[in-house]
Amino acid sequence: MDLGIKGKRALVCASSKGLGRGCAEALAAAGVDLVLNARGAEALEATAAALRSQYGVNVTAIAADITTEAGRTEVLAAAGPVDILVTNAGGPPPGLWSDWGRDDFIRALDGNMLTPIALMTALLPGMIAQGWGRVVNITSQSVKAPIPALGLSNAARTGLTGYVAGTARQVAPQGVTINNLLPGIHDTDRAISLDGGVVNAEGITMDEARRRRMATIPARRYGTSAEFGAMCAFLCSQHAGFIVGQNILLDGGATNATI
Ligand code: NAP
Repeated sequence: MDLGIKGKRALVCASSKGLGRGCAEALAAAGVDLVLNARGAEALEATAAALRSQYGVNVTAIAADITTEAGRTEVLAAAGPVDILVTNAGGPPPGLWSDWGRDDFIRALDGNMLTPIALMTALLPGMIAQGWGRVVNITSQSVKAPIPALGLSNAARTGLTGYVAGTARQVAPQGVTINNLLPGIHDTDRAISLDGGVVNAEGITMDEARRRRMATIPARRYGTSAEFGAMCAFLCSQHAGFIVGQNILLDGGATNATI
């Protein structure tokens, strides 16, 4: 399918690896020029080089922490006006409700709620002025069904979801859509690290940890970054202009809910 976005320009945050890279790759395949970001320069440059050579699009790579004011300023200055924004960052650490104080919540809110809001605040005016724009926020299945050990993530991402629900309806009249993508378990470094925690806590092998987790997913496997990216690119396409303020779950059926 021709997504109709060849020649557009996208900022994809936290995109040297994993789900962010999957989104960047699918947009590049649709002919979109990219501004990529991650903290580590080496993996970021390698991803940028791979996408340039495979898809022939322009790729700018900015190594910076997107959850800091200084990092965002650097990335936004390099990006300039964009047609498409994909927000993403690492997730907060797991724990128990009694582990966390005010500073932990401020860090989580900064990373997974206030950072995507700051990026939208900076870039929505340009999209509105040109009468076309797409924003996709990478959140989590924990927005639909809480993951008890990820209380910081549950809280911050649900706050972002509430913000998007209202804001998406305010910018839709100007041709700009905002939607959230909610990953369940995908085969990325983040999943390996979560499975590593189970290996240590329960004294089992990595294979056993993965087998147990897959058994909880009706699709009986982890998702891939390529599948995730394909959905992101569709939401950014010309065909998705009527999809507004939605939360789209990609979890192999793991969240047991009728709607
Ligand atoms: P990943 O494989 O660990 O990749 C994370 C990417 O983000 C890397 O490119 C990393 O590069 C970059 N990054 C992390 N923190 C950053 C920061 N502060 N500023 C800029 N770049 C940053 O993670 P993932 O699995 O793709 O997960 C992406 C998001 O989805 C996370 O918020 C995660 O919690 C959420 N999620 C993932 C899953 C899953 O199963 N994978 C499920 C639910 C939710 P650097 O480290 O070099 O910065």
